[in-house]
Formats: sequence, structure tokens, C-alpha cells
Amino acid sequence: MGDLRIKDLVVEYSNGGEAVRVIDGLDLEVTAGSLVVVSGPSGCGKTTLLSCISGILSPTDGRIQAGDIDVTSLDRRGLTAYRRRTVGIVFQSFNLVASLTALENVMVPLWAAGWSRRAARERAAELLTGVGLRDRMTHRPGHLSGGQQERVAVARAIALDPPLILADEPTAHLDYVQVEGVLQMLRKLASGERIVVVATHDTRILPFADHVVSLMPDSTPIDREPVTVRVPSGSVLFEQGSVGDLIYVVAEGELEVVRESADGAEELLKVAIPGDYLGEIEPLLRIARWATVRASTDAILTGYTAQAFRRLLKTSNGRHFFEHHEIDIEQGDPEHDHRDLGAVALQTEERRCHGSR
Ligand code: ADP
Repeated sequence: MGDLRIKDLVVEYSNGGEAVRVIDGLDLEVTAGSLVVVSGPSGCGKTTLLSCISGILSPTDGRIQAGDIDVTSLDRRGLTAYRRRTVGIVFQSFNLVASLTALENVMVPLWAAGWSRRAARERAAELLTGVGLRDRMTHRPGHLSGGQQERVAVARAIALDPPLILADEPTAHLDYVQVEGVLQMLRKLASGERIVVVATHDTRILPFADHVVSLMPDSTPIDREPVTVRVPSGSVLFEQGSVGDLIYVVAEGELEVVRESADGAEELLKVAIPGDYLGEIEPLLRIARWATVRASTDAILTGYTAQAFRRLLKTSNGRHFFEHHEIDIEQGDPEHDHRDLGAVALQTEERRCHGSR
């Protein structure tokens, strides 16, 4: 198919007579063979972006080019052909037909494309074998696990070998063991000429991605005064998968940075000591927290916004502390009465998401 190019994409919905801008000037260039992850908290336009790429939704403005197809200039017939030949979609709720077997579900798009029953059956069997469901072909969706249903949905999406696969929250209904298999499968599909775009707020997929598009609610995070945070031994500063806008510098104590992998195992990435900083990647790249940070002794940290952190690095080699007010994670603070600062930040981001457009 070639590369996927998105230029100046704008999507507005009409909400009670008022235009709400969900995507505002998005640019994206993806080379063939890539796995793209569209991340961001719920409600920030991930499904909207997938709908535009798949030709289901016409954007308000901007251009989408899939290989040599200018998707945004296609007429109705052109869009139907594009959706049939170029795009395979894996929906969040799998969208399998409950009365059909796994094999029949995968045969549906082949029949619709004019394949004979026999050829469709052979191709569907080959696809289901490929996703490890050879012995489940005659089962109906109700008798398959979430992970197995997801794999049937993937087999159906790739039945006609489309060069563009779009998956919306593919891990939403899966347990840890199932997630690993589905992620590996999506990774394998993104090769040769094929591009796979996955919309998710699940950070476990990030290590598999070639390209991460972070749909954060607002392009200008709020700058504010640094805060002091006291974290008692054993308490969590922020959790993997949460969204936060502060970068922390350790003043006292020790904290463990642990990452939970797709199989549920926990890996200790680092022990942070005074002078180290924590959580600097996410606010700068505007993605969800990559790991969990937990205090292994009573600890005191200073939290900076990305802007303040940049200033700090420039002016003082990261060792100087600003004027600040205090937050005590255990006892709470009248203005910041939360144990989990990730949760505070998430609420802030969501407010911005809905409020400022
Ligand atoms: P996500 O997939 O990240 O959860 P969506 O793309 O589904 O986000 O939605 C983004 C925002 O657009 C949300 O605030 C949602 O309520 C709004 N939205 C989505 N579809 C419509 C629609 N058809 N009409 C009006 N608003 C919509």
C-alpha cells in the first residue's frame, strides 16, 4: 500500500448546536510495515481518528492519504471500495455474529467479496489455524474466551489481506495472558507493506510500537508552581497507565520504579535516590505513565510541570529546588486531597479535554 500520511486533520462534532473540536490539526506520517499506537485517555478522539482513517467518518478538514489513495477525496463508491479492499477493522466489542461459528464469521467478508463457499472455507480455516484456533473453528463466539474471540476478529479483519489494519482497544476485554498473545499477533501483522494502527489507552502495547501518536486533550499544559510531595514507605506516587503532568525530583528517601508486563509480572527498573528524577518522559511526550513508582522508604519529592522542569534543567543542573507549597500524600492537602497524584492529573486532563474545545 505504501505509507500512511495525515496532514492537518481537523474533526469537529456538533454538540447541542456548538462545534466541539475533537482533533485539531493532526499530522502523521507512517511508513509501510509499521505498528502505530494511538494512545490517550478516554474521550480524546482515538476512535474518531480510526473512523477517519477507515473512511467511515469524513473529517471537517485535512487530508488522509493511504498509499496512493487520497481517502479524503473519495466519493461514496470510492469509499466503499477502499473500505472493502484496503482496510480491515477489529472492533472493540469484536462484532462477531453470535449464531455463526468462528469459521463462518471469518468466511463472511470472503463471501461478501464474491469468493466461492469452498474457497472461503479453505481461506478461513487457514487464517484461524494461523491465529492458533485450529481446534476452535466450529465453536460459536459464546463458547470462546475473550482472547479467542479477539483472534477470530483479527482473522476476519485480515481475511482479504488488507494492507491497513485498524484495531480499536483490542485488549479491552482480555486478561493478562490473553493480552500477550494478541499484542504479539498485531506486532507480527505489521510487516511488509502492511500498516497496523491500534487505538488504546493500554500502555502495555507501547513497547511493541514503531510509532506512538499521543492524543492528549490540550496542546498547552497548565504551568504551575512546583509542589512538595511526601510519600510514606510502601505508598504509590503514580501508577502505570495513569495520566499525570508532573515530573518529580527526589529530595529524600528511595523509590522503586516497577513496570508491569503484559503477562502480569512486575519488573524492577530502577531504584531512585535523592537527586534522581522520575516520570519525566510522559509529560514531555504526553503519554500515560510508563511504570509505577512506589516508595521503599519514606520519601519527599518535588513535582514540576514540564515547563518548570525544562527551566530547572537549564538553570541549575537539576539539583536546585524552587519555592513550593506542600502536598502530603498520606494526610491529604485541602486543595489536593488525593493519595494518587496520577488520578489528580487525569481529572485535570479530562477536564481540559471536554472543557476547552
Ligand atoms: P476515544 O476513542 O479516545 O474515547 P472518541 O473518538 O470516541 O474518543 O470521542 C472523542 C470525543 O468526541 C468525545 O468527547 C465524544 O463524546 C465525542 N464524540 C464522539 N462521537 C461523537 C458524535 N458522533 N457526535 C458528537 N460527539 C461525539
